[in-house]
Amino acid sequence: MNLGGSICLVTGASGGIGRATCLALHGRGARIVAAGRDEAALRSIAGAADAECLVADLSEPGSVDRLAQDAVSAFGRIDVLVNNAGIGWAGPFDQMGPETAAALISVNLAAPVALTRALLPGMLERGRGWIVNVASIAGHVGVRDEAVYSATKAGLISFSEALRWELSGRGVGVTVVSPGVVRTAFFERRGRPYDRSRPRPIPPEPVGEAIAVAIERGRAEVFVPGWVGGVARLRGGAPATFRRLSRRFG
Ligand code: NAP
Repeated sequence: MNLGGSICLVTGASGGIGRATCLALHGRGARIVAAGRDEAALRSIAGAADAECLVADLSEPGSVDRLAQDAVSAFGRIDVLVNNAGIGWAGPFDQMGPETAAALISVNLAAPVALTRALLPGMLERGRGWIVNVASIAGHVGVRDEAVYSATKAGLISFSEALRWELSGRGVGVTVVSPGVVRTAFFERRGRPYDRSRPRPIPPEPVGEAIAVAIERGRAEVFVPGWVGGVARLRGGAPATFRRLSRRFG
């Protein structure tokens, strides 16, 4: 898909991967609608990427439909939807509060599904559109102490795969992006900093760039960094070996 002149809605645009994605898309001539909760951070991306900003809390009932309507009103249509907003939580599942679990499911899975549902009909009518879902390697392998987070991302991966089949030949593409470890506020916000020495976190810019390239080249699935895809393939192709290695190396 040619991004020049395309109208792109990016959720979670106020920081990290979302901000980097806005800049990468803007750099290719796209018009950006940036969504998030932090107004000051959104104003900053508005300046840097000439974006329209929309404040929306995706965990609130009704917010997704309102965001979809406001986003379409901004430029008359949305050509590209990047479902990037997400939250994490780490710790033993039996110590996770039910509200926290519900919030993760709501922001990471229910909101992308609802936003896609709201914006897809317009894309299909025009025969042109792209949906990008930002998942995680956690959704492919299931990370210890991140049971619900991993489940929401696995759900997003399956949703993307199924939707791509359905939309085949109708002018709307679907990309699922699975980052490894990215240096953003994500880990501080989830309440447990990233404290492993390996894999080393990468900056968010390569992820934003990979998202833009995936849309331009029509890629179905992207791992950033690329080697993370090998981990997902090992889990899929040799699960017993994967578990043995995971127990050994953590
Ligand atoms: P981040 O810097 O914490 O960004 C998360 C974004 O999501 C923020 O812009 C935040 O908006 C938005 N968000 C959170 N809760 C929201 C809500 N209730 N309503 C609306 N927006 C909300 O983290 P990030 O690393 O860039 O994460 C972006 C995506 O990448 C997430 O889906 C995450 O799961 C995924 N990912 C991250 C990593 C990593 O290592 N960092 C790895 C794999 C996948 P406000 O700040 O405005 O609230």
